[in-house]
Amino acid sequence: MNKLIVAIDGFAATGKSTQAKRLAKALNYTYVDTGAMYRAVTLFALEQPPEGNLDFDLLNRSLDQIQIHFEEGAEEQQTFLNGLNVSQAIRDPKINQHVSKVAAQKEVRSFLSKTQKLLGANKGVVMDGRDIGTAVFPQAECKFFLTATPEVRAMRRYQEQVQAGVDESYEAVLASVKARDEQDTTRAYAPLKKAEDALEIEVSNLTIEEVFDLLYAQVSKQLN
Ligand code: C5P
Repeated sequence: MNKLIVAIDGFAATGKSTQAKRLAKALNYTYVDTGAMYRAVTLFALEQPPEGNLDFDLLNRSLDQIQIHFEEGAEEQQTFLNGLNVSQAIRDPKINQHVSKVAAQKEVRSFLSKTQKLLGANKGVVMDGRDIGTAVFPQAECKFFLTATPEVRAMRRYQEQVQAGVDESYEAVLASVKARDEQDTTRAYAPLKKAEDALEIEVSNLTIEEVFDLLYAQVSKQLN
C-alpha cells in the first residue's frame, strides 16, 4: 500500500501532537514527536555541570552521548533519554523556557534531523514539529501548518499544565508561548515557517474533531 510522510508543523500549543497521534493511529503509521526530541536534548544540556546552566560549546561536543528513543506506553508514547523515561521531565516549564535556545543551535538541529530522517526513511510516519515540511522532509506528500492566536494557545497549554499538576500562571504561560514563537520564527537555521505547499489551518475556532476531519480528508486524497 502507498505509504506517505505526513508533516504537521506549526506554532506551540496548536494541538499538533494531539492531531498527529490521532492521525497516526487512524492510518496505522508511526508517530514521531520531534518537539520531544528537542526537549530531551534541552534536559540533557541542563543536567550537565554546572547544573541548570546552558553551555552550548559543551552541548555541541556532547551530542554523540545522547540517545533518544520512543516506546509505546499504556496510553501515551513515552520518550527516553539515554535509557531513562523523561516523558514527564521534558514538559517542565524550565524546559519550555530553554528549549528554543537549544533548538536554535545548528549542531543540535543537524543531529536531530538526521535521526528524524532515519525514523521516516520507510515512510508511513506522521511527524510533528516546526521544520518537518520545510527542512526535514521537504518531499513529504502531506504537509500541514497549524496556527492559532497566542491567547488561545496559552489557555490550552495552561489547562493542560493544571491537569498535569504544573504550577504556572496563565500570564507566565502566555509570556513563554510568545517568547518561543519569537525565537522559533526568527532563528537562522530552519526557522518555523509555513512550507509553500502546506495546508494552513487556523484552529482557534475549531474543535479537535473538526481539525482532525480536515487533516484526514486531505491525507485520504493523497492515498487515493
Ligand atoms: O512541539 P514542542 O512545543 O514540544 O516543541 C518544543 C520546542 O522545540 C519548540 O518551541 C521549538 O523551539 C523546538 N522544535 C524545533 N523543531 C522541531 C520541533 C520542535 O525547533 N521540529
